[in-house]
Amino acid sequence: MRYLIITILFFSCTYQNSKSDIDLKVDEILSQMTLNEKIGQMTQINLTVITKGPTKWESSFPMEIDDKKAKKALVDFKVGSVLNTINNTAQKPSVWYKNISKIQDISMNNTLLGIPVIYGIDAIHGTTYTDGATMFPQQITTAASWNPENAFNMALVCAYETRASGIPWNFSPVLDLGLDPRFSRQFESFGEDPLLVERFGVEMIKGYQGLNNDISNKYSVAACMKHFVGYHATISGKDRTPAYIPDNVLSEYHIEPFKKAIEAGAKTVMINSGMINGVPVHADYNIMINVLRDKLGFEGVILTDWEDIRKLHDRDKVAKNQKEAIKMAINAGIDMSMVPYEYEHFIKNLISLVEEGEVSIDRINDAVRRILKLKLELDLFDNPVTNYKEYDDFGSKKHHQLAYKSASESITLLKNTDDILPIKGNPRILVTGPNGNNMRTLNGAWTYSWQGDLVDRFAGEFNTIYESISNMYGQNNVRYISGVSYKENGNYFDMVEDNISLAVREAKKSDYVILCLGESTYTEKPGDLNNLNIHKYQIKLAQKLAETGKPIILILNLGRPRLITDIEPLMSAIVNVYLPGNFGGDALADILSGNVNPSGKLPYTYPAFPNSLLPYYYKPSEVQNNAQGAYNYVGEVNNLYDFGFGLSYSDFKYSNFSIGNDTLLVSDTLNVGVFVTNNSDIDGYEIIQLYSSDLYASITPDIKRLRDFKRVFIKAGETKRLVFSLPVSELEFYNIDNVPVIEEGRFKISINNTNMKNHSKDIYVKL
Ligand code: BGC
Repeated sequence: MRYLIITILFFSCTYQNSKSDIDLKVDEILSQMTLNEKIGQMTQINLTVITKGPTKWESSFPMEIDDKKAKKALVDFKVGSVLNTINNTAQKPSVWYKNISKIQDISMNNTLLGIPVIYGIDAIHGTTYTDGATMFPQQITTAASWNPENAFNMALVCAYETRASGIPWNFSPVLDLGLDPRFSRQFESFGEDPLLVERFGVEMIKGYQGLNNDISNKYSVAACMKHFVGYHATISGKDRTPAYIPDNVLSEYHIEPFKKAIEAGAKTVMINSGMINGVPVHADYNIMINVLRDKLGFEGVILTDWEDIRKLHDRDKVAKNQKEAIKMAINAGIDMSMVPYEYEHFIKNLISLVEEGEVSIDRINDAVRRILKLKLELDLFDNPVTNYKEYDDFGSKKHHQLAYKSASESITLLKNTDDILPIKGNPRILVTGPNGNNMRTLNGAWTYSWQGDLVDRFAGEFNTIYESISNMYGQNNVRYISGVSYKENGNYFDMVEDNISLAVREAKKSDYVILCLGESTYTEKPGDLNNLNIHKYQIKLAQKLAETGKPIILILNLGRPRLITDIEPLMSAIVNVYLPGNFGGDALADILSGNVNPSGKLPYTYPAFPNSLLPYYYKPSEVQNNAQGAYNYVGEVNNLYDFGFGLSYSDFKYSNFSIGNDTLLVSDTLNVGVFVTNNSDIDGYEIIQLYSSDLYASITPDIKRLRDFKRVFIKAGETKRLVFSLPVSELEFYNIDNVPVIEEGRFKISINNTNMKNHSKDIYVKL
């Protein structure tokens, strides 16, 4: 009978996806649900729990749903959500379609209410777990383009290809502030600056959820902002270790990008798996309710990260047992638990907590209401699975070109002694180094598998750096000798010496050495690092090659800036490709040859030393004293390269820096103008950056903060006038009481991080 009512409701009403219709429908369904059904909706399990295979952690190939296991989870226990792939391996769209159809069939046709499952996946720089998907540069690389359109394109293509895989929910974008080069997930972020994270993050939401935020559209997915909040700011620099963050610091740097993404309509959020000020975030009522719900007005679904309710007991020791852990997390605001294995345990415990009055039925209804609403907004009741056959552009040239464009705009030229680049003539080239001839390191983790270890199996059709260079200069002119390589023993940081002397012999016969150094792939705990220096065998290779006297072009292919200070002076040129994805090799070859003029700028500070790891918005006392005397604070911080730095083959000159009015009210808008001339015979893009410094404030101000930026094409010989309009209100900061304020006084306004002296003026802000 209940089934009938719902069926009539779903199929006979001509309903539009308007908010109120959906809300009415949610109420209708909710009113008919049992407690078991409700709690099932709050449960997310790993796919391997319901596939054929030896254990709940491991599936057999090819992937196939196990009827018995699936019925137990989806029908008996009413589990409402499934995530991930099997055995960390990408699948073909047809395999996804077959298996998700089966899941929906079991879930919808064997239960009274016929509620569809919501399937979620990590597709963070393209559709990670789908064979044939378009892999874009990772977020950190995308940020280096300083062109948020690349984030939009990545999300648009990723939404399309994720839906082509039958999946409507994506655990992306990462809105964490990537402020620590030691942290294993810095590459998943848009870098160290809150404004960059915010601008790129908002474009990701638009790309995923569509410009009108209609996720019932079969080309859109529900986004999941993560990991709320402060995830990367750990003391040790290691994953999921303690962070201590005062409220005003949390607001000033970490929350802002989430706030903007919420305003852009982000539907779901995943919680930080770590702890802040001793409180695991999954048990933090203040962060989830006071901040996320009440202050930021977030109305969507709050999801845990992997096994994080368990960890309140097992790891963090704030709950005496599992049952208490569940009570804490649900009462603190969690709507859905990524359990993802011991679901019976979670469901039974939560049912008894409600029966015992430890968790209120209102809290459960609140969570389930949000989950049902998401399912309705995604149109899952009518279209529970999208069909790959309707997605002709999956993995298409059109999509590939957008990924290539992003890579070519991101690659950052850091050093170019005597204009050695672009490479001239028809030279003989040695490509060497552990990152020179594989697709794995170009892509990084979350590519066809979690740790990125399967990339070369899936990405064979794309070009490694060596392949792209030899396509460009001819196979007879280009040789690859690894020199040293990563040890494939599950330890991502060990290296072996292969043939350094052979590489040196070949270098002597070559006109250029393209030395590809960096890291192998990693994420999360496996990426925890004890030594930020680039591996000693890589240093050795660089030094031996330098002894030949041949010009070396160092290509950095890494997820975080590893220290290269000792070998930097030995290099003629340095190019940072970060993790540029499947088209990174081609984009690099185009830049080295001069077909493309480099325009990327660092989205992080490139450190020089292990004890000087600061983002560019440090406090004045961080400045180290120079030779002129002690404690005068006029020295420099010791970076190798500044945030926002990157060279071009063009020569850009700035002039006529001006500000409209030097005394302003908080309600005013500040106009800043500057002329930029391309003083060369090469067309190019320049990224013009606007910074402010609050000169005196009630809490020690940051040295400077990025306030706006523009990516501008300037033809050879051309001069362009750029104008920034900055609302004075954007100069506010969070004071010691965690209140956003502007205090009366002087501010320095400047253009470009590395060029401050010549292009700055003071303004006075009156209250
Ligand atoms: C990661 C998340 C990810 C989740 C699901 C976790 O271990 O921290 O970023 O979304 O796994 O795969």
